[in-house]
Amino acid sequence: MKQPRKPRIAGGSHSHKITQMDGGRAEIHSQRWVPPAPASFLRRSSLTRQAQRTASSWCGNNFYLGIFKYNFKQGQLLKYSQLIWNINVQMVQQIDKDFTLSLDMADFRKFFAKAKHIVVISGAGISAESGVPTFRGAGGYWRKWKAQDLATPQAFARNPSQVWEFYHYRREVVQTKEPNPGHLAIAQCEARLHKQGRRVVVITQNIDELHRKAGTKNLLEIHGSLFKTRCTSCGVVAENYKSPICPALSGKGSPDPETQSARIPAENLPRCEEAGCGGLLRPHVVWFGENLDPAILEEVDRELALCDLCLVVGTSSVVYPAAMFAPQVSARGVPVAEFNMETTPATSRFRFHFQGPCGTTLPEALAPHETETVS
Ligand SMILES: [Zn+2]
Repeated sequence: MKQPRKPRIAGGSHSHKITQMDGGRAEIHSQRWVPPAPASFLRRSSLTRQAQRTASSWCGNNFYLGIFKYNFKQGQLLKYSQLIWNINVQMVQQIDKDFTLSLDMADFRKFFAKAKHIVVISGAGISAESGVPTFRGAGGYWRKWKAQDLATPQAFARNPSQVWEFYHYRREVVQTKEPNPGHLAIAQCEARLHKQGRRVVVITQNIDELHRKAGTKNLLEIHGSLFKTRCTSCGVVAENYKSPICPALSGKGSPDPETQSARIPAENLPRCEEAGCGGLLRPHVVWFGENLDPAILEEVDRELALCDLCLVVGTSSVVYPAAMFAPQVSARGVPVAEFNMETTPATSRFRFHFQGPCGTTLPEALAPHETETVS
């Protein structure tokens, strides 16, 4: 089997890797870091001593370079802006804090009314409100396994039939789910603001396409989609909404722990339809231990650099992916509003927090404002 070519990160002799999260917590490792990049930009930077110590201590370890954009916007830094290192929440905490946390929706609506470019970062919480299983936490099992046992390249290499059963099950379940009022509020807001020359974009870790189903057009699916496949041979990515995805998986994939593995021969699993290929397909999702697509990360970076309001929806601000993206927005002084079922130790770093189901809070937050003249 031919291996698809690995995407190269532009401009560097670095190999970095965002390890998919375990229970939502980011694990981002820089790999085979090649000096002198961090040392040289640290020398050129205007970092405080304290921050330099912190940053230095990350080298070979972890941090998210985007955070530094706040400190030095020119030069060396931008060159590395799309490199992802580990997150250091402490670093973010020491950046800025010239406001106090507000729970006041009327106050949020003032910012909303003025915003021209809104970024919504969404996570599993908004999908959970539509009944999408997350395979995390207590009871989060498929048969005897958790997502992190099955959603790995190793599991797929070992037993592609089993991994396909798992994804077949998830595809079939998700096709029965509908966007909730939170998804719809975001999509309707995007359509309405578009007519006013304003932009809304959703950056999501969810792979269920419920944002798309709700009508969201500007969508960056950083973990891919349950309804896309990628050929392990030629690398072609294709949309696929078939149910079942192939005849052999029909009726398979039951999550019941007593179920026997279907042991489908690889030739009967989903295969590539490109002329002359026929390679084994895999779900086009980012698995534990795999890289996020650098092209999508660049787009994310661009949106984050331009936005003037950021909503963090259904994901805690200390865990991936919001922890990766929201802090750099906050560090520019852009208001970040968190919509979540609970507060976190990091909540106070942001301007707003609205507690409760996003199906309740978002429709109110994103409703037409009295100052909107086109709707
Ligand atoms: Zn192919």
